[in-house]
Amino acid sequence: GSSFSAMGSKANDLHMLFFPFMMQSHLLPLVDIANIFASRGARITFLTTDVTASIIRPTIDDSVHLHIISIPYAEFGLPDGCEDNDFPLSLDLRKNFFKAVASLCHPFDAVLRDLIPDCVVTDMFLPWTYHVAAARGIPRLVFQGISNFSLCIMDAYERCCPLLGEAESFVLPGLPHRIELLKTQALDLNKLAGTPMEFMLEIFKEIHEVEPKSYGTVMNSFYELEPQYVDHHREVMGRRVWNVGPVSLCNQNVTYKLARGGEQPTLASECLKWLDKKSRGSVVYICFGSKGIFSVAQLKEMALGLEASNHSFIWVVQNGENNWFPEGYDERIKGRGMVIRGWAPQLLILNHIAVGGFVTHCGWNSSLEGICAGLPMITWPLGAEQFYNEKLLVEVLKVGVEVGSKVFEFNPETRPIIEASIIEAAVRNLMGEGEVAVERRRRAKILGENARRAIEKGGSSYNEIEKLMQELINQRKHV
Ligand code: UDP
Repeated sequence: GSSFSAMGSKANDLHMLFFPFMMQSHLLPLVDIANIFASRGARITFLTTDVTASIIRPTIDDSVHLHIISIPYAEFGLPDGCEDNDFPLSLDLRKNFFKAVASLCHPFDAVLRDLIPDCVVTDMFLPWTYHVAAARGIPRLVFQGISNFSLCIMDAYERCCPLLGEAESFVLPGLPHRIELLKTQALDLNKLAGTPMEFMLEIFKEIHEVEPKSYGTVMNSFYELEPQYVDHHREVMGRRVWNVGPVSLCNQNVTYKLARGGEQPTLASECLKWLDKKSRGSVVYICFGSKGIFSVAQLKEMALGLEASNHSFIWVVQNGENNWFPEGYDERIKGRGMVIRGWAPQLLILNHIAVGGFVTHCGWNSSLEGICAGLPMITWPLGAEQFYNEKLLVEVLKVGVEVGSKVFEFNPETRPIIEASIIEAAVRNLMGEGEVAVERRRRAKILGENARRAIEKGGSSYNEIEKLMQELINQRKHV
């Protein structure tokens, strides 16, 4: 923070309060962001529950003050400690969970009253924090855990959606590239109507209402990754945006990487030992985020496809039941394939020299982590805005190969099945030595280098952080 003192104000004057939504993919990047602002001299309070605090404590900077509030589980019919990642909630209970979290508006207000931070940075899923902060005259920044590209697509889709009629596919209007979507790939909230997720419609309405009124948006991205879309986000959509990522790059030491999202040291060291024996760039890593559940039929196809590809692989399987593996599978893949059941040390694996490709569901965190590791990817989107990230990876950045998943469908039982032969071909393509594969690998490597440069001193994200902190300090002086 030396440049701050040079400018006459001390960065450590700035007190920022962070409030995450308790879901791994929302929580982990916000912990990273809190650490990054702390390292730049801001005083940080991180508001969370005791269950979440125990998960993040090993990875949060010592200087960050954890302020604990409690979810009234019983009042909302929720099991105690249900925000733990190992405790996935049924769809019915998810609604209650959102309600229970929203009931934290009173303790949240009390914290603002007592601590009077200069700003709050709260998850997009906590739109009500805007009103509480506004009533106390405190600026609220939204943490948006997705890409500028996806936000631009969502904005364009909303404008063209009413005009689509029965069209099966369409080109999104007014974007820097020609992006064509199938109707089945779109993140259309209307698809939630009549499902157990219907309650989200009301929440998204509120999110929409308060985002433009908030002070601005903190994004886990970097300018050089999607420059035209950052510009579009600012100039066409009119948002105040700070790109401060890729934030996972702050986890440089192994202890952090190990403990991220829950410690499993034995598994991690087993993984690393296994990878150490493999040659450079020879292993494919397959993982579908924190919630990648598939039908047994699909898992069998994956198992056979990976086996037939003849490449080494680490495959993370989230499904609880494991009795569906093809007969004798373990024996057949011995030494060549490693199956991890549950939570994998993803950052450690992706950044191991032996890993040469990543099969991803295109969640934004995973997409960015793949980019940072300089890896080409096979894209296998399932839902949310993952189909948009696929477009970015495959068509704009040209570091991805589509496996051919075309239908937004969270229900694994009704999702179309991708056959083993298709998976095998995609892996051979990704890991192959053809001209296209080599070129893809070269581009991915450059992206990884650009990502690293963005967060270094003088890089675009580094500078954005400085600008934001300075602006927050200045605006306080004018109060
Ligand atoms: N992750 C991990 N181990 C796992 C699965 C996921 O460390 O076994 C981490 C991954 O590194 C990423 C996050 O969990 O940071 C998943 O976020 P993403 O946005 O990719 O997907 P989501 O879970 O929201 O579908």
